[in-house]
Amino acid sequence: MSAPGLIDTLEFAHSAQELSATVPVAALQRLEDILYDSAGSLEYTIRGRQDARRRPLLEVRIGGSLNLQCQRCLGKLELPVQFENTLLVVPPGTPVDPELDDPEEPDTIEATPELDVAALIEDEVLLSLPLAPRHPEGTCASRFEKQPDDAGPHSAFDQLAALKRPRSKH
Ligand SMILES: [Zn+2]
Repeated sequence: MSAPGLIDTLEFAHSAQELSATVPVAALQRLEDILYDSAGSLEYTIRGRQDARRRPLLEVRIGGSLNLQCQRCLGKLELPVQFENTLLVVPPGTPVDPELDDPEEPDTIEATPELDVAALIEDEVLLSLPLAPRHPEGTCASRFEKQPDDAGPHSAFDQLAALKRPRSKH
């Protein structure tokens, strides 16, 4: 048996284990920079199984919502989170060649006897999020909404700065 919060990836897949839990958004520290606030929680389920070729897989399903910061008006953008991803468990040290990244093939994860489940969930959520979350066009509610949607050469940097800058409370 692994310690709480850790799973043995191969054993988990081969014996078709299942793990469901709820994690407070506040505990997902790597999301902190892009969040408007850390209200709410995410529910996740990890299921082990094997595919038709008897390869070990982890199915990850995550649901809930996050309060992101709109990159246009800096207001609260409630983003529903609902996705699942299948990860192929590969031997440690398997090289990842992005050139060979086949969209038909599942993402991979290195086999380990002690996978940190919380870190995995954090990774999956981060990968699923939009790079520059915004309210749909014309729906920003704040006083910033009249600003032109600047597509100038510095906009990408401005967005980055907006992500990093501590937010002032209005
Ligand atoms: Zn907005």
